[in-house]
Amino acid sequence: MTEVETNAVCPPSLIPRGVQADHACPSPYAVAPLPMTVDTNARVKASAVGGCLHGQALISRALRNRVNRVDNDSCSPGGEDPFFVADIGEVYRQHVRWKVNLPRVEPFYAVKCNPDLTVLKLLARLGTGFDCASKKEMDLIMSLGVPPSRIIYAHPCKASSFIRYASQRDVRKMTFDNAEELYKIKRYFPEAELFLRIVTDDSESLCQFSMKYGASLNHTADLLQLAKDLELNVVGVSFHVGSGAVGAKPFVHAVHSARTVFDQAEAVGMNVTTLDIGGGFGVDNFESIAEVLGPAIDECFPSTVRVVAEPGRYYVASAFTLACHVIARRELPHHASYMLYLNDGVYGNMNCILFDHQQPIVRALTHGNRYMYGLLDNCEGPVTASVWGPTCDGIDCITRECQLPYALDVGDWVYFDNFGAYTMSAATGFNGFNDNCEVLYVCSENAANKLLSE
Ligand SMILES: *Cc1c(COP(=O)(O)O)cnc(C)c1O
Repeated sequence: MTEVETNAVCPPSLIPRGVQADHACPSPYAVAPLPMTVDTNARVKASAVGGCLHGQALISRALRNRVNRVDNDSCSPGGEDPFFVADIGEVYRQHVRWKVNLPRVEPFYAVKCNPDLTVLKLLARLGTGFDCASKKEMDLIMSLGVPPSRIIYAHPCKASSFIRYASQRDVRKMTFDNAEELYKIKRYFPEAELFLRIVTDDSESLCQFSMKYGASLNHTADLLQLAKDLELNVVGVSFHVGSGAVGAKPFVHAVHSARTVFDQAEAVGMNVTTLDIGGGFGVDNFESIAEVLGPAIDECFPSTVRVVAEPGRYYVASAFTLACHVIARRELPHHASYMLYLNDGVYGNMNCILFDHQQPIVRALTHGNRYMYGLLDNCEGPVTASVWGPTCDGIDCITRECQLPYALDVGDWVYFDNFGAYTMSAATGFNGFNDNCEVLYVCSENAANKLLSE
């Protein structure tokens, strides 16, 4: 049975008609006939989060061509290293999706989520702004020709030297949430355009920030008064509901809090002009958040108020697929199960397990001659395995238990889709493995291709 469904988040109108994959994005790995066969009695994956069939076909081909080039018997050291395939067209579609659903809100992409240069270049050309938190991130963005006015230094607790650097490079927009920060800014960059970051209820989000950042509404009036006394330039209010928010509720609540703080600012005679709604948006819950959040913003803030956001995960999560090699296997004789060892783990791209509370799904990509990209059954089946990373640390475990269709062998490949957010950006080189993973690019949107080649 073959069951193919198009994905709801990839509106057909956004898939260029009549565009051949080969034509849209010639793959450097288009080679002679491939030895692998696709399992025909398996079901085709119905819906990745994000993605579209055209993009999936390109990803599939890039993965297959790349793994076909690896001969486990003869490749050079590291020739079987993990690699990403990124569909840049997916980033483009996410941008269009943003514009359609939150037309009033200008996205400033949060660089820390994934500082891939091709992603940044595309977003720069699409005209987004950028949320930077360090000198390096500011340098990276400005090296792409982005003017400093399109950067927000969205970090409430900055090193003094970085504030001086922001002043030198004229990166004016920055956040604060405490009095000490105001004294620092007064000293090093009194002309800065300040956003008061307020605390939010992030109790249901995947990653919480509010124990670390954000002024409570009990302190905002005093902070605004202090900023006024110091003759600093407060231009707006910002918040972040936590990364990986579950729904619209915390956003709406935070918008109401921001309104209160706008009122406090106006009461002390400040002219605040901008609301910054932060990040937290997911790929699969975006519309349901936007349809409630958009009207809540309109209700609380007149159209003269500029609204920006700092999405990270939303833009890149679904664009990246990671392929890893099975480097070792241990049979557990009395358990009818296996321990599989991959060449990527929690010190590498799977750091998201520890830092981002993700639970990556191990999917079989190849087994011998079988090629299983996009098949529903590639993460289920009769074989029980625990899956481990390559470093010598016992904590380096990808999953304690998963089901697989086959007892994968050394030399087989697995993959992880929706793997673009908070993965490669925090990978380390611990024990000599995997920082700086190779990325192969495909592009399922002609327009994105065109922007990148200009
Ligand atoms: C991490 C971060 C973001 C991005 O959050 P996502 O959940 O990835 O959208 C935005 N703003 C700030 C201040 C952050 O720290």
